[in-house]
Amino acid sequence: MAQIIWGTELAAKIKIDLKAEMDKLRALNERTPGLTVILVGDDPASISYVTNKQKACREVGMKGEIITYPASVSEITLLAKIAELNQDERVDGILVQLPLPAGFDAQRITEAIAVEKDVDGLHPLNIGRLQLNQECLVPCTPSGVIEILKSIGCDLRGKRAVVIGRSNLVGRPVAQLMLQLDATVTVCHSKTPDLAAICAQADILVTAAGRPGLVTADFIKPGAVIIDVGTVRGQDGKLHGDVVFAEAEPLASYITPVPKGGGPMTVAMLLKNTLKAYEMRKKDHGIWTE
Ligand code: NAP
Repeated sequence: MAQIIWGTELAAKIKIDLKAEMDKLRALNERTPGLTVILVGDDPASISYVTNKQKACREVGMKGEIITYPASVSEITLLAKIAELNQDERVDGILVQLPLPAGFDAQRITEAIAVEKDVDGLHPLNIGRLQLNQECLVPCTPSGVIEILKSIGCDLRGKRAVVIGRSNLVGRPVAQLMLQLDATVTVCHSKTPDLAAICAQADILVTAAGRPGLVTADFIKPGAVIIDVGTVRGQDGKLHGDVVFAEAEPLASYITPVPKGGGPMTVAMLLKNTLKAYEMRKKDHGIWTE
């Protein structure tokens, strides 16, 4: 029987540490780090994600601002706001909630965010620096996966890791991070033949396909660590991962559930990235007061 890794508990611990960091800054009379999230349109899931991010900021004592626009806003207005936030010294992290409504060039908007404030880690320069193993802002969900692995003392050196999914948001960066930790990494996708056989060789299996029920018992090497990043809201209104939990759990050594697994870690890592962005820019400013 696998040990269940509760992302909720791990995220709560990270937030306690972050709050302590915020208290330290306050005691030193330093400026409070701040995250600004831009929300375009009224997609209920996006509204809920953005609200959660602001709530998490408040929990740890960070500034969390939401700027909302109707879906009819022009791209020029959006780009002008990003340019303004790029110049605003009090803003450390800028995040445009994705997906944007139809008609927006998400890539253009992502690239408009100053690389040092790109707390989503999606700017091409941050992606490139990650590939080059340089200091950068790393996408939040993949760094959450690495925190989860660290929390169970998982040493990736020489281990066989398999990632299902090759998106820029999850699959590729998570593979890169595990490679940096000396795992031997295989990245699978929708055109991969014999998916189950490849996954069954994995000491660590990270799945980010968004296909509920994809990962069944035949995908699992006995004793493997299973991190399920997939989250799809089913017709039953519940969140579902890629893994058939009841089949995987008796075989794995560790497993994340969905919900309460990888999901809560993403917001915690966003806060960590905001503090990191603050610290990185502080080097150029010395001590920052309000
Ligand atoms: P995405 O851009 O749709 O990418 C999905 C990847 O999975 C693609 O590379 C796709 O292959 C691959 N794939 C799809 N079906 C497959 C199959 N049957 N067999 C093998 N590979 C398959 O999605 P994403 O943005 O990476 O997100 C992935 C999942 O993670 C989603 O469920 C999403 O909701 C979840 N997610 C969770 C969080 C969180 O906070 N926990 C954050 C981000 C994403 P191709 O490249 O060949 O199409």
